[in-house]
Amino acid sequence: MAEEKYAGYRGSTLDWLKKQGLEVWDEIEVTKADSSIKGVILPRNELADPNFISLKLSTGYNIGFNIEDVLRVRKIGRFQGKYRIPKVEIAQKPALPFVPILGCGGTIASRLDYQTGGTIPALTPEELFSSFPEIAELARVETSLLFDIFSENISFGHYVKILTEIESLIQNDAPQGIVLTHGTDTLAFTAAALSFSITNPPFPIVITGSQRSSDRPSSDSFFNLYNSVLYAASPKAKKEVVVIMHEKSSDTSCTIHRGTRIRKMHSSRRDAFKTIGGSPLGRITERKISFAKEEENLSIEVELKDKPCQITKKFEEKVGLIYHYPGIQPGVLDYYIEAGYKGIVLAGTGLGHVSSNLIPTIKKANENEIVIVTTTQCLHGFTGLSVYESGRQLQKAGVVSVFNILPETAYIKLAYLLGNYRKTEKIIELMKQNLKGEITIREKFQEF
Ligand code: ASP
Repeated sequence: MAEEKYAGYRGSTLDWLKKQGLEVWDEIEVTKADSSIKGVILPRNELADPNFISLKLSTGYNIGFNIEDVLRVRKIGRFQGKYRIPKVEIAQKPALPFVPILGCGGTIASRLDYQTGGTIPALTPEELFSSFPEIAELARVETSLLFDIFSENISFGHYVKILTEIESLIQNDAPQGIVLTHGTDTLAFTAAALSFSITNPPFPIVITGSQRSSDRPSSDSFFNLYNSVLYAASPKAKKEVVVIMHEKSSDTSCTIHRGTRIRKMHSSRRDAFKTIGGSPLGRITERKISFAKEEENLSIEVELKDKPCQITKKFEEKVGLIYHYPGIQPGVLDYYIEAGYKGIVLAGTGLGHVSSNLIPTIKKANENEIVIVTTTQCLHGFTGLSVYESGRQLQKAGVVSVFNILPETAYIKLAYLLGNYRKTEKIIELMKQNLKGEITIREKFQEF
């Protein structure tokens, strides 16, 4: 691995830099046959083309040049990459409600990485808060960083860490509400995990993220964080796990989604998060929270509201989520049986179907006491295994259809139930019950 001063460079470029007496962060002028350029040598991704050197131009753009094209090079100065937004002391108002912000990484807490040109997790929530002092007008905010990773790297152990922190806040601090900042890619999984694991939370638990990092002018991080803190600090807020994100691509409003019915529907747009198969709980427009009418919500809570708050921190990790596709081979399922999996969620086609060549293996899985449920990869609409012969065969093989639970939510719910209940019948019974608004009674007709 190249030393820090040649970060990311190897082979011919590393030799060239050493020969020229140059290092990363040196400002140089490069003369080529057709042009000359000035810029700062940037660290380079080790996987990038080894013949190129990356320069940051004064315009802010990055370019790469091939060392073979260089006629002359001259060092003209030295620059140090500025990685951190300085922390500033914000005067907190003691009379305001207490809202801790728990940082879990993601774009909302990230900045541009000069090494790869991508974004990397770097800002602590504290630094984020320092960048947006307006939040101090809404609540007494305290930030803590639970982990600083992109959400594609989040797994059950991270859910346990978040739950442990929430448990400690309940026992020691009695906040008005809490906000979690999280990467958007798997935010829906975390929202479902917290929804199932916390029975009757004593305060609202808001999860938010952003699609564009805070160093970009189009960033949604401030708008989402501001509205999340506003909601968490409000006595009007519902005491359950919600996700608050941009409603539209402009800064007009944020939607309040129930934690078990959301999906990221776009890879980059700011309005990517949608409630599927139901109406969102409400919205925040110009600092005003409004809730959808209860009948529009179409969700029912089985949970009894007078039960005390309870947190469980167990998940069965040996649960698979298998997306059906034409040509899928039974060997895919065999893998899960042989590896000792305890549950499988099928994201089936249409009403929840999978190819009949899987039936014998599904039967085998069932004999091995693996709980197999089916959902629909259509996302909208319900499963129904009684309509077609293929569905009836699946039922006979022991597959349980779980209405309109989203595949990701079903995956988390099954991991939660297998982690906390022993009897298969009980797990199946609860899979089919609406525990946290994950099953809606009917889906209101909506144009796509
Ligand atoms: N890949 C990032 C993550 O989920 C994207 C984001 O934060 O928006 O952490």
